Order: sequence, then structure tokens, then C-alpha cells
Amino acid sequence: MSMAAVMNTYGRLPVSFTHGKGVYLYDEEGNQYIDAISGIGVNALGHAHPAVSDAIKKQADLLIHTSNLYGVENQKQLAEALCAVSGMDNVFFGNSGAEANEAAIKIARLYGHNKGVDQPHIVVMENAFHGRTMATLTASGSRKIQAGFEPLVNGFVRAPYGDIDALTNIAKNNPNIVAVLMEPLQGEGGVNCLPENHLAEIRALCDKNDWLMMLDEVQTGNGRTGCYFAYQHHHILPDVVTTAKGLGNGLPIGACLAHGKAATVLGPGNHGSTYGGNPLVCAAALVVVNTINQQQLCKNAQQMGALLLDKFNRAFEHNEAVTDIRGQGLMIGIELVRPCGELVDRARAKGVLINVTAGSVVRLLPPLIINPSQTEQLATVVIDIINDFIGNS
Ligand SMILES: *Cc1c(COP(=O)(O)O)cnc(C)c1O
Repeated sequence: MSMAAVMNTYGRLPVSFTHGKGVYLYDEEGNQYIDAISGIGVNALGHAHPAVSDAIKKQADLLIHTSNLYGVENQKQLAEALCAVSGMDNVFFGNSGAEANEAAIKIARLYGHNKGVDQPHIVVMENAFHGRTMATLTASGSRKIQAGFEPLVNGFVRAPYGDIDALTNIAKNNPNIVAVLMEPLQGEGGVNCLPENHLAEIRALCDKNDWLMMLDEVQTGNGRTGCYFAYQHHHILPDVVTTAKGLGNGLPIGACLAHGKAATVLGPGNHGSTYGGNPLVCAAALVVVNTINQQQLCKNAQQMGALLLDKFNRAFEHNEAVTDIRGQGLMIGIELVRPCGELVDRARAKGVLINVTAGSVVRLLPPLIINPSQTEQLATVVIDIINDFIGNS
């Protein structure tokens, strides 16, 4: 397929799809694939989910957009559902993960100014990914994403991921810090996990220094790691949480949730989005949130994720070419000793769509609805291609 009329910003694979059903995608030649990347963590309920499709069809016949000049009933209902599932107080809606993070960054800055910090700074992490807008690419911890787009945005301080001592030091030396922004489990950066008590320690550090604790759950949210939000594994509440990807199951939506003092920072005129939280996307997202809850998809993500980890741990136990197997719920990374980008093609040839991130990490983000036999099938193919790759190299 020639995509010459589209600006050349993506390295695309030589395949495109006509339709999907559940965990499966079908290409133009009718081949079936297990979609183990879910549109990069977006299709949490799989493809063509009947309840989501029905909600979209019904809402499209009623009202697609009215703007935030008026009350929006679906937006209200979705915000209430998100608050109920998260313990947060209120929500701002945008159209993407980057926009959700922009809202968080603006909350942190205004929070800082309100308490007399003229040059508010936000601590961000090495290897972080927060999006591609100017502020969010600056917050991201990857030179590849930033190079060529300088001047970057001021007001960010970088720290190593998972290093509480480094953050404690920053707290001692930098009175301009007003917030921490981080992923509870890094996705694009290579499926990197935090030490066991780290989020609780961050919570305490933020309380002590009057910083906002802001978690980017764009990828980890909406059931992906086996709780609705990943921070819920740690029994803490952040001040700000951002989410997107799985929330709309493919319709563009981003949400910035705030709690306590962070929830009252923005007022009329401080922030906005023309499309943000429109009736159509909110109708779809409301079905997503309800379905994740009613069908206990967090539990399924825990169980299927444990099944995958168990299979991979057994298969690669004595294999020195596999340096690490990690993740939580249905967000799993298998790190190899060397770059393994070609595994994407090898998996596709065997009917499985995967992704390789950070050069040498096979990343799996299957839909939360995946069942045990599909999970076994996925594990078998992934184990085969990795064994083959290592054996033949
Ligand atoms: C994908 C992602 C983003 C960016 O989301 P967009 O919808 O592409 O703007 C931000 N943060 C994290 C953790 C992500 O995984």
C-alpha cells in the first residue's frame, strides 16, 4: 500500500487490516492474527466489541458534538464512573495521552505559582515517555524523541527511574520543584518496573515537600496491569493521574484526573479542548469502564498475565540470551541480550502481532479479554520465535 500522500512520520509494517473480532485481526488477504499489541494498548476490549459498537451507533444517531459551551451528560457520567473507580475527585477530558499530560503539567505549574513558586519545575524520569507535544516530549526521557526539536520547554528536572535517594536529594537541593510526573510502570521505555515500595515512598516524599504526585497511566490504566489503575496495587492515591489509550477502545480520548488540592487548581478559562469529552467518545468510554468492571477484566488481566509470565519463565529459565522477563498484568516485556526488531516479522508470519521496544525488549499488550487458550497459543508462538532467533543467530 503506498502511503506517499501521508507525511512520512512512521516506519510502517507491510500489512494492513480490513476488520477485527475480539483478539483477532484480519488482513487484506484474509489471514488471521492474534493482536498481542492491541493497537499499542488501546483495544483493551479487543476489536469490534459489540457493546462499544452499539454505544457508538446509538450515540451517533443522537448527538456527536455540542462543545464544552454546554453541559454534556455523557461526559458527566464518564467522569463520575472514573472517579468511582479511581478514588479521584474530578476529571478534565482531552483527546489523547499527550493532552492528558499537558493538563497535568499545567495543573502542576499553576499549583506552584499559587503557592509563590515563580519558576515551578517538575521532576521527570529517565526513559520516560509522555507524548509528542513540545512539553510532553521534553518531559520524555529519550534523546531520540527530542533531537532536532530544540529549544525544549523549561521547567523539568530529570531523575533516574526508581531511585528514591536521587529524588530525596533533588528535594533537598531544589526549592522550585512542585511535582513529580512518572509512569508507575514504563511502557515505551522498555516495560520497566519500580522497586516494590517505591510509589509509597514517592507518596511520602511528595507529602513531605508539598509536591503533587502525578502518575502517567496513559498505558497502564484501564485494567492493563491487573488493577483499574496501577497505583491501586500499592494502596496509595496520587494527586493527579492521566490516562488515555485503553479508555476509548479506539476512539480518541484522554483524561486527567485530580484529587484533593490538585482538583481545585484549574478554573474557568485556565484550560480547554474543543472536542474534549464529546458525547460520542464519552458514550464509548463509559461502556469501556463499565465492561472492565462488570466482566472483571482486571482479574482476567492478572490471571492471563500470570499464565504468560509462568510460561516464559519456564521456557527461558536456562537461556542466557533472555536477560529478563518482567511486567504486570497484561503488560509484559522479554528482554534479550541483543536487538531483536526482526522478531516482529517472524511473529507476524506465525499469525501473532507483537512489538519490540527499547531495541531488545519483546513487548506484549494483548487485549484484556484474551482467554486461556488464546493466551497459550500466544505464549507458544512467542517462545518458538525467540528460541528460533536465539538458536539461529
Ligand atoms: C502512549 C503514551 C503517551 C502518549 O499518548 P498519545 O495518545 O499518543 O498522545 C503518554 N504517556 C504514556 C505512558 C504512553 O504510553
